[in-house]
Amino acid sequence: MLSQLRDIVEHVSKVENVHAALEILVQQTCAAMHTECCTIYLANNDKQRLELMATQGLTFKGDTIHISFNEGLVGLVKRTAEPINLAEAAKHPAFKFFPQLGEGIYHSFLGTPIIHRKQVLGVLVIQQKTSRQFSEMEESFLVTLAAQIAVLIAHATAQGHGFFDDNKTAVIKGIGASSGIAIGPIWWDNTQPDLNNVFPASALDIAREHETLSVAIENALADFKRMRKKLDLELNKDALAIFDLFTHLLNDPMLRNDLKAQIQKGDKADWALRQVVESYANRFARMSDVYMRERAQDVKELGQRLLFFLHHTEQPIHEFNEPVILVVRELTASILASVPKEQLLAVVSLEGAANSHAAILSRAMGIPAVMGVNTNPERLSGKIGIVDGYSGEIFPDPSSELLLEYQELVTEETELSRMVEQTVDLEGCTSDGRRIQILLNAGLSADTSISLNRNVDGVGLYRTEISFLLQQQFPSEEEQVHQYRSVLGAYPTKRVVMRTLDIGGDKPLPYLPIDEDNPFLGWRGIRFTLDHPDIFLIQLRAMLRASEGLDNLSILLPMVSSVQELDGATALIEQAYQEVSTEHPKVKRPEIGVMIEVPSMLYLLPFMAQKVNFVSVGTNDLTQYLLAVDRNNAQVADIYETLHPSVLAAMKHIFETCQSYHLPVCICGELAGDPIGALLLVGLGYDTLSMNTSNVAKVKYLLRQTSQQELKLLADKALMQPYGETIYNQMRDYFEDKGLAGFIRAGKS
Ligand code: PEP
Ligand code: MG
Repeated sequence: MLSQLRDIVEHVSKVENVHAALEILVQQTCAAMHTECCTIYLANNDKQRLELMATQGLTFKGDTIHISFNEGLVGLVKRTAEPINLAEAAKHPAFKFFPQLGEGIYHSFLGTPIIHRKQVLGVLVIQQKTSRQFSEMEESFLVTLAAQIAVLIAHATAQGHGFFDDNKTAVIKGIGASSGIAIGPIWWDNTQPDLNNVFPASALDIAREHETLSVAIENALADFKRMRKKLDLELNKDALAIFDLFTHLLNDPMLRNDLKAQIQKGDKADWALRQVVESYANRFARMSDVYMRERAQDVKELGQRLLFFLHHTEQPIHEFNEPVILVVRELTASILASVPKEQLLAVVSLEGAANSHAAILSRAMGIPAVMGVNTNPERLSGKIGIVDGYSGEIFPDPSSELLLEYQELVTEETELSRMVEQTVDLEGCTSDGRRIQILLNAGLSADTSISLNRNVDGVGLYRTEISFLLQQQFPSEEEQVHQYRSVLGAYPTKRVVMRTLDIGGDKPLPYLPIDEDNPFLGWRGIRFTLDHPDIFLIQLRAMLRASEGLDNLSILLPMVSSVQELDGATALIEQAYQEVSTEHPKVKRPEIGVMIEVPSMLYLLPFMAQKVNFVSVGTNDLTQYLLAVDRNNAQVADIYETLHPSVLAAMKHIFETCQSYHLPVCICGELAGDPIGALLLVGLGYDTLSMNTSNVAKVKYLLRQTSQQELKLLADKALMQPYGETIYNQMRDYFEDKGLAGFIRAGKS
């Protein structure tokens, strides 16, 4: 049975045309299950009906057959999302006879829903002339088959294959990660360098070329592993095999030795790669066995991928003739940092989710973004498209009506931002006069706009990673002093909270590959820096030296999960201070704070209160670790709930504990800059919010429309709710009542 199942799925998945694939599915299912009739219906949600897509055994006249969601046994399977197994279908109360289907000859009926991510996509039915109940084995066969077919159907839909003949604009769905709307040409960033364009070049430093090669090999292997894992979930066997083959080839000592030998002769790594790959490919191409001959292409593709990793760290600067909607495989902070902002209308990433660092950065830059999009980017490239950063929808080749609708929304958006800009210079304050400190989150981009943010009360979070990510090695102490001084100097009279290096997770350093199964639970943030006091001390000294004469530096420690880690870090800060103050006696001891982003910290707050000057809540990671949901994984994005009742309860606990220990607390996660989040947090009692520059004006405006008393009532009501969705709905109603719905527009559809 198992092998039959695999055969059917494999066979069906290989057929390009989806309609032909469904025909094959019903034929092969009949054969495997020794039954006379198999039919697949797909749900057309717009029309609330199931459409017959392919059948073996039913005869009907006319073009299309459909069954309403409320009709017959097939409708019942769809509604209940459960299989129905009947020896005598006609006796069931829900049975409805469809004379046009010619099913009068069948007695037994087994129908099973086709479900993908909780959604019933259709119904798969087998019928038989003899009256008999299908066995448990048969039932589980059909259920398993339907589960696998569901993946193929969802994939085909995501790739833009329309199953129904209505001429609606196709829509591709992803996760809305940065609000806003963009209309313009779509550009697929396929900047993979071409092996054919690599020409003879000698190495200036042979040892360095060896090093570059081995880093590229490690990065490529890690990438293959990641891709393999991803494809495993999607049942894409052919693609899986290719990554296995790549891994195998790349681990082959002969290939590695040949590459090394070529570099040793004095060639640059990429030129060595081209020569070795070509000689291998030629060797395969000359073989008599057809299978082996085809491997020549694989070797070339491997070479191509390796070349990408050889060049990857060089961060090509993208140049476009006009502003574009940029589609990339994986949006990284580095890509965003290296493309001029005015050239980006929106970004679309095949991987990632709403709180990956790249998504945060796109919000900071005010660029609409959609993440985790399952589509074939080649099909989008060159088309005009609409990106809806609220709903996560992308419309390639939109109809003129849709275009018009979205153009109106763009106008509304522009008006909204003009309106909020009017109060941006005023201080953060509720309508009844409660002062709220509005701080800036900065640093994810190598942004120079930091000096433009005069209308904030200081910098609540300066992420220091980006200069480490954009380079080919750790930046020197001098380079860091220079960079930090420019930030501290931009706010001479205000406090600047600089966070120490938080790499790992979704911010691996290109020159220090870390291969972990669970990078977010691994060697990240303070864990890395405590293991590398050399790197940590350089950064601390640089921060301290940069603060000389300005005295506005506070140091924030990321990913702390225990008191030992804090003790270790404070000892190193003290050491750095002693070292710096001998040469620069005027340098002041900075205030020290910890991020509250690992749940263990909720229970350590009383101890922390004795050891630090302040805390800052990182709701992005706190949500990820509290709910055990990878913030970067599109697959589970719908359960990464920023308004989850436990997140709110945790926020309340943190606020109250900090109050009782007189420990200053700020929120620097994305929740603080989110219109709903900001109001709820103020309602909970918080008075210091740190956010991306693009949210400052909005949040200030909203605060002025609401009183502290109102917000407290809202927060108290939210704390009583068991579902995040109810909390969201309550807040949405509140925004609507106050005429503020434009701030949380949840998409068009
Ligand atoms: C957070 O986790 O909320 C945070 C502010 O840090 P980062 O997003 O950089 O992990
Ligand atoms: Mg964090």
